[in-house]
Amino acid sequence: MIRSSFLSFSPPALSAAEEQAVLEVVREGTWLSSGPRTKQFEQEFQARVDAQAALALNSCTAGLHLAMAVHGVGPGREIVTTPLTFCATANVAEHLGGTVRLADIDRETLLIDPKQMERALTKNTRVLLPVHYAGQPCEMETIERLARAADVAVVEDAAHCLPSLIGERWIGNSNNLTAFSFYATKNITSGEGGMLTGPAELVDRARVLALHGMSRAAWDRFKKGGAWQYDVEAPGYKYNLTDIAAALGLTQLRRLDELYAARMNVVRAYNEAFSDLNILRLPRVREGVQSSHHLYVILLELDRLTITRDQFINELTERNIGSSVHYRPLHLMSYYAKKYGWTPADFPNATWAFERMVSLPLSSKMSVTDAHDVIEAVRDIARKFKR
Ligand SMILES: *Cc1c(COP(=O)(O)O)cnc(C)c1O
Repeated sequence: MIRSSFLSFSPPALSAAEEQAVLEVVREGTWLSSGPRTKQFEQEFQARVDAQAALALNSCTAGLHLAMAVHGVGPGREIVTTPLTFCATANVAEHLGGTVRLADIDRETLLIDPKQMERALTKNTRVLLPVHYAGQPCEMETIERLARAADVAVVEDAAHCLPSLIGERWIGNSNNLTAFSFYATKNITSGEGGMLTGPAELVDRARVLALHGMSRAAWDRFKKGGAWQYDVEAPGYKYNLTDIAAALGLTQLRRLDELYAARMNVVRAYNEAFSDLNILRLPRVREGVQSSHHLYVILLELDRLTITRDQFINELTERNIGSSVHYRPLHLMSYYAKKYGWTPADFPNATWAFERMVSLPLSSKMSVTDAHDVIEAVRDIARKFKR
């Protein structure tokens, strides 16, 4: 049975509460740019992940860019990150004139391999930039040990990570600048938006750079009794979040437990259905961590199938099931391949994963019936194209 309507890959899960929250901001008409909602969003986010400090931004990319700037990435300075990420992770180092080095992933977890990070370190390295891929935390203890030994900073790309845990500690609670995303497809959304967490001293430096390099936020300047004077300490950026977006994000944050529970219902249905399907394998989730399950990635066993990954995706589409690929690795993107002379064989594990990965539909908006439609489609493709 083919589903009658197309199932989108990752629609946002919005309710009447989000609608109300945004309407209130517009009806009040006093603060459209960063104001009380943005402050509130920062405070509640900080409390939710037990962060030392939090800075609301208009994207996760902005957070990563600011983190690179705070840690002095620039000409002649290098970062080390994973090839299996969204381009923004590396682009921000390029914006500052820095150099990107890649460390290949582990084939089982699809996470950056600390041994490969160690090999990519040089005397010019400034930042180790692990990405908690699909919401599963990286091996932070090992990565932080490496960073201490080499005297370099760690920045965490936590775009996928709400709510993720290492032991009892939320991602966002470490001593590293950590960037979250509230892009429309992420676990919670503000349309566009992001949050940077970390030690107060580092977040404060990012806060100045996030608003033109001005020594005092507009929010303070325009409050009653706020002084009009300000200095410009550095040529900063324009990365602040609007109160309209913050109202949306704040409402989603308050619904996080409910949204995560709905997401997990889909994940559990998939896990159960796919555990005995031998045309695919699932990435391993490490002991002692909680993944936010931002993505549900399957790895096709290509030698058990008569079709390629791309054909598999076409078959899903024909069955009205949306899907995606996360990601075409950085070393295969023309800009990076040209600039650094990288070939597919340079990061063989990421290339291997890319050729067989499919992200199945997953969102808090999906019902268990939707999940069963996906499972049925995958089983049907398996039956038809099994070798
Ligand atoms: C979405 C994403 C980003 C960028 O987030 P924005 O909020 O869109 O800037 C960065 N890194 C990863 C891994 C992402 O998935």
